[in-house]
Amino acid sequence: MTETVLAILNQPSRDAAPHDPAADAFTWAKPLEEHLQVQDLGITRGDGVFETITVVDGRPQALEAHLARFGRSAAMLDLPAPDPDAWRQAIEAVCARLDPVREAFAKTVLTRGVEGTDRPTGWVYAAPSVDSTAARTEGISVVVLDRGYRHDVERTSPWLLQGAKTLSYAVNMAALREAARRGADDALFVSSDGYVLEGTRANLILKVGERLVTPRTDIGILAGTTQADVFRFAEQAGIETAYELVTLADLQAADALWLVSSVRQAAPIRSVNGDTRAIDADLTDRINGFLLAREV
Ligand code: PLP
Repeated sequence: MTETVLAILNQPSRDAAPHDPAADAFTWAKPLEEHLQVQDLGITRGDGVFETITVVDGRPQALEAHLARFGRSAAMLDLPAPDPDAWRQAIEAVCARLDPVREAFAKTVLTRGVEGTDRPTGWVYAAPSVDSTAARTEGISVVVLDRGYRHDVERTSPWLLQGAKTLSYAVNMAALREAARRGADDALFVSSDGYVLEGTRANLILKVGERLVTPRTDIGILAGTTQADVFRFAEQAGIETAYELVTLADLQAADALWLVSSVRQAAPIRSVNGDTRAIDADLTDRINGFLLAREV
């Protein structure tokens, strides 16, 4: 059986002291043993950031984009800046150690550390992904849920950390359970003033005529690495792309919809609030073909 591979970083940030001045950059650890202290603020307050990176045939995808966003999220939380070299080295090492598998993921976690120590905690693990074939081919159903914040929340209330990939995903998971209660696979958040935002763990892409459109990334949503690469695909394929404010009427009028994210890649949306939506199977295949073949 393919196992989870775990590495714990000795010095996740150059701005903070290493855990052990004499130790290597990271140590291998057994995932099923205890490693975290109960007073780690990542656990007691969800005070930290993370990234989930797709790994195809042992190759982490969009690694530099993930490392850049990891740093941006940390900055939004005033965490010590993650050292990209230390993290890149640890990510590549866990990916290389994973038993050969077509699709896996690597998850990096940086927390504020144990209360009172001023030393962040960091670890990365890799494990095989769940099979996303059904989502990519048959599509997914979504319901629209109000996130309760205006679309300008990132500017008016930066302390709400909208747009940072924090460890506090309890709200996202609650939305996912609400979607399940309503008989859907996932939720699509909308701002309190009516702009479509993102999924619980994914970005939205709309096909509008011959263009691909995604919600602007300055409205309290995560700037997606997968969405950016779908736009890279579109530019190579001669398809026009745009970042826009997307209303519920735009969502209703779109020709096709996808939720895109690491691991699942592009999942076409086959229904919104119970209304059937057309899937563009050909374009979906081309997008997923491009995403899975990414060399970087
Ligand atoms: N939006 C949210 C809230 C997410 O959690 C994620 C990924 O987990 C995304 C968007 C998509 O980001 P990416 O494509 O970089 O995985």
